[in-house]
Amino acid sequence: MADPAAGVRPPAVARRLPGRARRRTDVLREYEEFNSDRRRAIPPVLWPFFAPDPDRYYRWRVQLDCACVKELLTPGDRIPPSERQWRGLGDGEALPPGQVYCRHDDSADAPYRDIVEWGDRREVSFAADPVEPPEWADADVWAVIRHDEAHTSAFWKVTLACGHVEEVVAPALDWKPDDGPRLAEATRVKQMTEEFEQVWDSDPMLQSGHQREHTRRMLAAGWPRPRPERSCHTCPDARAIVAYQRVGWLIPRNEALKPEIPPPARAVLERRLRRAEAEAERLRVQLAGHEERRDAR
Ligand SMILES: [Zn+2]
Ligand SMILES: [Zn+2]
Repeated sequence: MADPAAGVRPPAVARRLPGRARRRTDVLREYEEFNSDRRRAIPPVLWPFFAPDPDRYYRWRVQLDCACVKELLTPGDRIPPSERQWRGLGDGEALPPGQVYCRHDDSADAPYRDIVEWGDRREVSFAADPVEPPEWADADVWAVIRHDEAHTSAFWKVTLACGHVEEVVAPALDWKPDDGPRLAEATRVKQMTEEFEQVWDSDPMLQSGHQREHTRRMLAAGWPRPRPERSCHTCPDARAIVAYQRVGWLIPRNEALKPEIPPPARAVLERRLRRAEAEAERLRVQLAGHEERRDAR
């Protein structure tokens, strides 16, 4: 597990790793399939930026701090995968440099981490809950937690002390991070503290040890909303790259397009970039037109 308390990790080393690289043709076929799906959603002029041809990619094998060995592709062969940012599960948030998501069935519980930065905000509207309780709730529990009116909540992206990104719900729609957390009344906190102690005595399995410690910290802090800390569901499965091994280009260089020799002049490259940007802007305007017409229908 990537632990921020573990201090600065020594840089990853280049060395031979156990096992062998996968068959290049298998890796290439997978990339081509993935890329053709991805290209359906991207205008061709932007493919070089967001869905490049396979000849740009270089293959590496990496060993993680969980001991697993994985293969990764990077654009170009200069910057090793341990100095790059990889995404979390699926199309998740970017992980801190050199970390890779590797899920294990026996991963630790999600640890609580302090919130160090507030990012984007989004609003989500919810319909009123049905009167009938869902299968997972008793009628009396449902009576307490059910929302009997439609409501809207504000969700904020937060960066945690470990560098991972999570989302928290604000105590009110108009709440802003500068407002600071809202505290419960002292008498109410005292009452809740007693209630929690009773519940923990009668049902020791209700919360795990680290959840209970979190609840105790929040009660001691006056039951702040939003909480100044959040459980990080990325930490248990974010592993650091400890070593890497070069494999080679996804398409061997003698088969790939030769680089332009001599390389084009700066002015030529700038002109090509301006042309690509203008084309991208034109496509964006066209796309926006499509969306407006669709919305108007
Ligand atoms: Zn692993
Ligand atoms: Zn984390």
